[in-house]
Amino acid sequence: MGDARTVVVTGANRGIGAAIAEELRRGGHRVIGTSRDGKDGFEPVDVTRQATIEALASTLRRRELGGIDALVNNAGVSLDGFNADVARRTLDTNFYGAMRMTDALLPLLRPGGRVVMVSSGLGELSSVGPELRPRFLDPALTRDELVELVESFVRHVVEGDHERHGWPSSAYRVSKVGLNALVRVLARDLADDPRRIRVNATCPGWVRTRMGTAAAPRSPEEGADTPVWLAVAPEADTTGGLFRDRRRIPW
Ligand code: NAP
Repeated sequence: MGDARTVVVTGANRGIGAAIAEELRRGGHRVIGTSRDGKDGFEPVDVTRQATIEALASTLRRRELGGIDALVNNAGVSLDGFNADVARRTLDTNFYGAMRMTDALLPLLRPGGRVVMVSSGLGELSSVGPELRPRFLDPALTRDELVELVESFVRHVVEGDHERHGWPSSAYRVSKVGLNALVRVLARDLADDPRRIRVNATCPGWVRTRMGTAAAPRSPEEGADTPVWLAVAPEADTTGGLFRDRRRIPW
């Protein structure tokens, strides 16, 4: 068990998250899987509820594991319809959920720790208009500015003029664009952290899950491959990137 890592995986009860957990276990790693209902041995975490995240952090501290080695933010939703409520709820899970989890578990990460965001090709920067791209790409973008940017999307949806301001009519896309930007912000903010923490995003491809539907070409195992690699592979020693099929791709 020399190279065995301790990895927290959100939304590990089904879909890609379950395949990530399974693959990690097969590799001899210790998995702390979370699910919303907390049944069947999962830790109960709803990433939209801060109290459940704090409870997980306390549980991990109490268990005296000596910290964790990786956090895989996999939990996500793709809701039907498009309106301000869908926009808020989608961001709450896919963007803020990953942010809350990362903030809460960051202190527990050991040296060499990894944070992996399960993002999507739908979060490519071209999902937003040319007027918004430089703002997301700004190397000096702060966390507060990023939050303000995604909140401005919700405001424009409320006002009915989001497309005029360069936003797509897809909350899912915006949540993943935001997540990819968050990876860059976190990687930069952690650059001086002596633990050398690595933060990356990955697109799993189109995967046969409840979200991806039975029409998708990839199995959950195939979708899990790059997230697992980013979480534990010694050669995945990189930060601030977006990965597909173990290769860094342009955002
Ligand atoms: P899925 O089968 O629908 O599973 C989603 C998982 O997220 C479930 O475990 C679900 O828990 C959990 N979840 C949803 N909301 C949550 C919340 N508020 N708190 C905690 N857990 C929550 O979807 P999937 O295809 O495996 O997707 C996993 C990740 O891959 C997502 O981030 C998704 O955006 C991304 N992705 C998927 C595809 C694809 O083709 N499938 C493509 C690109 C990216 P419950 O069981 O309680 O609902």
